Amino acid sequence: MPQKINPDIETSENQNPHSQTQKQQSTPTTEKKTKYVRKSPLKDNRISLTARLNENDLVIFNQRLKLFGFSSLNEMVRDFTKSKFPVVTEDKQIDNLYQNQQTGGLKSLLEGGSNRDFYERADTNDMHKYYLNVRKFHPNTCRDIISYFKRFREAFFTEKIDEIRGLTPRVKSKIMDALRKFGQYYLYKYNNDQVIDLVEKIIRRHSLSVGNTDHGKLYIVDDHYLENKLKLVFDMNGEIGLIVKFGLFSGLREDELIYVYGKQICTNLSGCVCEKLHVMEKPNGISIILVQWHRGHKKCYFTVVPTELFKAFRNLESFSYKAHIRSAHSYIKTKDETLNFMWLRKAHYNVMCRTMKPFEANILAGRAKTVDAKHYAIYELDSMTNKYVEAWSKYRINFTH
Ligand SMILES: [Zn+2]
Repeated sequence: MPQKINPDIETSENQNPHSQTQKQQSTPTTEKKTKYVRKSPLKDNRISLTARLNENDLVIFNQRLKLFGFSSLNEMVRDFTKSKFPVVTEDKQIDNLYQNQQTGGLKSLLEGGSNRDFYERADTNDMHKYYLNVRKFHPNTCRDIISYFKRFREAFFTEKIDEIRGLTPRVKSKIMDALRKFGQYYLYKYNNDQVIDLVEKIIRRHSLSVGNTDHGKLYIVDDHYLENKLKLVFDMNGEIGLIVKFGLFSGLREDELIYVYGKQICTNLSGCVCEKLHVMEKPNGISIILVQWHRGHKKCYFTVVPTELFKAFRNLESFSYKAHIRSAHSYIKTKDETLNFMWLRKAHYNVMCRTMKPFEANILAGRAKTVDAKHYAIYELDSMTNKYVEAWSKYRINFTH
């Protein structure tokens, strides 16, 4: 019976050891509890381990098992015992690096030597092959990317990053390109997207792209530029106009928009911790939506939106990436070649920064530490909605009727 699975396998003397391989069990990395069960004194001196796993995680577990090349938990345990698995690779080192980044800042990176291996020992010949054969870049481009990577990787991942900040925009953009491509290579090679995230994080933290690429463009432009572009958005009508405006006023990422559209709303607002959306309507025409959706390193705690707009958005007959977000994206482009759907989120952040402190705007944008977000979710929501209203009023947008 392939569907019905009992993840909690107990020892049974009569059990054929191979029957276990047909069942799906949990892994030592996801389990809550592993325990020594029993040793058979008879012919078979193998023992069984039990592990508990949430039923919903079973699919993920099986996918991961496959991903690492095991057809059964037994195989994995065998390799684990023989130290064949997990291979101590760059992955763990990045984990460390990543945690250091999140908790202690870049300084702590320097304390442990080994967690730099993932970039120090990267196989640049293999990377070159990937750029050339998989990505089909021109040979000169490949050579360029590798040479920038070799030259600047150390500075980029350590406190020496200040050396990079002082370089010309052209060189900086070459460096960022080389490191971003390294992230893509890493994903391709190890099925791990943490380097991509880490690189973006470093770029953002040190504002490497400010005044450099499209990314930073918005942050250094004057009000007049932003106002003109926003006017294009405000003038959009119909369903597409509604979607575009909701994207702008919420600042949500694309997948978060889909989540917020489809998720059920819970009416219990007194500290309920269920998984549905919790929406608080404020008298000033603003609603706070507690989203609390995390996936990977992306987090959305809550967002602030005009109540009417939120209701209209939720009332759309349907909303999906392919049909709606893509159309909205193309529509924006027909109005202004330089804009796109992603731009809405950046514009939102930029508007918020007019009245909020950067870290407050970061909380809204889902880029803040959890503790900060929690503090805000509890104590500062009113002040945040007021600042929200004030920020938009600078663009003559008023949410009360
Ligand atoms: Zn609830």
